[in-house]
Amino acid sequence: MMIRSNSEELIRKSIARFVDNELIPKAQEIDEKGEFPVEMLQEIAKMGVFGIRYPKNKGGAGGNNTLYCILCEELSRGLVSVAAITAMQCLMGTNFLFHFGTDEMRETYFLPAMRGEKIACFCLTEPEAGSDLGAVSTSATKTEDGYVINGMKTWVTNGPVADFYTVLCQTDPAKKFRGLNFFFVPRDTPGLSVSKPFQTVGTRTTMLSEIAFTDVHIPAEYRLGKEGQGLSNLLSILSEIRSMTAALAIGLQRAALDDSIRYARERTQFGKPISKYQLIQAKIANMAVNLEASKLMTYKATRMIDNGISCMTEASMAKYFATEAACKAADEATRIFGAYGYSMEYTAQRYYRDSRFLLNGGGTHEVLQTNIARWVGL
Ligand SMILES: Cc1cc2nc3c(=O)[nH]c(=O)nc-3n(C[C@H](O)[C@H](O)[C@H](O)COP(=O)(O)OP(=O)(O)OC[C@H]3O[C@@H](n4cnc5c(N)ncnc54)[C@H](O)[C@@H]3O)c2cc1C
Repeated sequence: MMIRSNSEELIRKSIARFVDNELIPKAQEIDEKGEFPVEMLQEIAKMGVFGIRYPKNKGGAGGNNTLYCILCEELSRGLVSVAAITAMQCLMGTNFLFHFGTDEMRETYFLPAMRGEKIACFCLTEPEAGSDLGAVSTSATKTEDGYVINGMKTWVTNGPVADFYTVLCQTDPAKKFRGLNFFFVPRDTPGLSVSKPFQTVGTRTTMLSEIAFTDVHIPAEYRLGKEGQGLSNLLSILSEIRSMTAALAIGLQRAALDDSIRYARERTQFGKPISKYQLIQAKIANMAVNLEASKLMTYKATRMIDNGISCMTEASMAKYFATEAACKAADEATRIFGAYGYSMEYTAQRYYRDSRFLLNGGGTHEVLQTNIARWVGL
């Protein structure tokens, strides 16, 4: 049992009610359709949660990082893709606009995004720059009154449907990491083009695409943050990104565990429910233990973030552990379901496919393992 304040528990319960009554009953249908879930997002927006981690006096809901992760966990229990879109809207897609945008940009883009009227996204990855952000080559070249952007981003969550883009660019290749800067680019800027949505294994309503920039002119105030601070700004939210991904993984583990318990109790073979067989019990016990450990690690990290304590190691370990545990839980669920784990009509297959979503964002597991090994002294 996680220790939460009364107000955190109240908010969690109201999100959980929404997930149980509105999201879970429609999750299979939304996933099968594979379209951007506009109506569901509008319902989520009505709860005022897109601004969960921004101050109340600036259009947010005044919550902390722990509450943000509670939101992500609960939504992910219903449908990972809806949780991922929400997570993007609350953090990576809007954070630098909130902190570094002009009042007009905040009025025209940030506040509508908080109301769910505009969709945000975050563009780091390029065809030749995945884990290695030092290889980012999308260029932002200074002009008299601003910048001109050229290059290509890929694997952009919400890319096909976004109204504005936060884009990592290189302003001076000689400076390498100190030449990295974030820029704000509205969708209707001439020279920006969006590819068709990718066909993906899981999280099928989370639209992904390439975004191409060809002589895209933007004013100087569209640089988000001080010159050369792109990487340090990214690092300033990396623990939040990693603990958020861990929270998504916790939600998926809970869904896989709940459905496995229910199915194991209902399914009878050799004259008794399969839940009575120790090998099935062992799977479910391991899922429960991993879930508990994931919660402890993740919410330790979120509390540290809320208290201003640096926690890159803890957040990275939480992301690594919780997402591996989610993949394992989804795999076990498909086995407990037997042949029905292979059927598109049951939930286990969706958990299995959606679990793969968690592996890359915020750092691949190989990169995290390499970092963790270094941090513990290798
Ligand atoms: C569903 C999904 C959503 C995404 N959403 C976004 C988004 O919104 N915005 C965005 O910018 N990007 C997004 N991405 C991209 C994601 O951030 C990248 O996939 C990730 O950074 C890894 O890059 P890559 O896929 O190019 O893999 P690579 O970096 O090419 O890695 C390939 C393999 O090599 C391993 N590897 C790489 N370097 C090392 C090393 N130093 N040591 C050991 N092993 C290594 C990796 O772990 C991996 O196993 C998304 C990806 C997916 C799948």
